[in-house]
Amino acid sequence: MSGRVLCISTIPFRFHSISKLPSYPSSNSRLWFCGNPNVIGMEEQGFLQASEAVVADTDLLKKKLEAMRLSGPQKLQVIADFDATLTRYWIDGRRGQSSHGLLKQGNPDYDDKREELYKYYHPLEYSPTISIEEKTKLMEEWWGKSHSLLIEGGLTFDAIKQSVADATIAFREGVVELFELLEERNVPVLIFSAGLADIIEEVLRQKLHRSFKNIRIVSNRMVFDDNGCLVSFKGKTIHSLNKNEHALDMAAPLHDQLGDVNGATNDSASVRKRTNVLLLGDHIGDLGMSDGLNYDTRISVGFLNDNIENSLDSYRNAFDIVYLNDASMLGVVKLVHQLFPVGGI
Ligand SMILES: [Mg+2]
Repeated sequence: MSGRVLCISTIPFRFHSISKLPSYPSSNSRLWFCGNPNVIGMEEQGFLQASEAVVADTDLLKKKLEAMRLSGPQKLQVIADFDATLTRYWIDGRRGQSSHGLLKQGNPDYDDKREELYKYYHPLEYSPTISIEEKTKLMEEWWGKSHSLLIEGGLTFDAIKQSVADATIAFREGVVELFELLEERNVPVLIFSAGLADIIEEVLRQKLHRSFKNIRIVSNRMVFDDNGCLVSFKGKTIHSLNKNEHALDMAAPLHDQLGDVNGATNDSASVRKRTNVLLLGDHIGDLGMSDGLNYDTRISVGFLNDNIENSLDSYRNAFDIVYLNDASMLGVVKLVHQLFPVGGI
């Protein structure tokens, strides 16, 4: 443990300990850090220079990178959260919508009812005074009621398509490049979400305009009847506090929905054999996404999008790398490039 904080940006380099920073700007302002690019010898490809980044333990990160590099891409899998991790937190000055939040089910009364649920349960989800056991019950209640309202309100697949088309949602710059890079290297990507798989797939279809055979969505999946009306949900409900349990078992190939006849190259068993994990998340709880895996090496990347002054300490202690201020995905693209410069293993 180096005990120091490496903070790198594209502005001229100086080295600071975080504790020596004079003051934290307000959460509305951008936070800039700077550091010595030679500390961890990873500056050539610049994955920490693409945007503001914080690394608390450079020695540990360096060891993990070396271990991953030696194992090769055939041992790697990527596990990513969806909302505010793959997607942007801010879009044109407005808060980007989540895959759950964007849904208009074509029945305003039911949209209002779900909004009422949100207003009631969302503060409870983040309440510091409610135990995790109690919160888990509350989240089960919330998700259960929301899903029932979607069925009762007659949600159709056409309404999902329209909702996505109308939504304020966008992928971070560099997400397509990351998916392409990982596809070239035959590295599977599991996207974990407590949202709705059918919506996430529609966002991928509409915003990326292409499919990736290495991507799987692990989320709540809907069942539609022949008329395109929602009739039920498949399997166990994934909510914000249990999205790490049974998630691998619920993985389903994205190609089924996107019509990729070549199919996914990795089934659940082969994913389990991939013992190195690159984890991407925007909440500390996202670190639990790899709990079901007996991994050898994990590099965790956290996107700290907002409320930076209050959360930076906990994020930098939890994640190997923290990108600040709703950063792009280009730093992660460079990291993968640096790990595995040549594709096609
Ligand atoms: Mg998220």
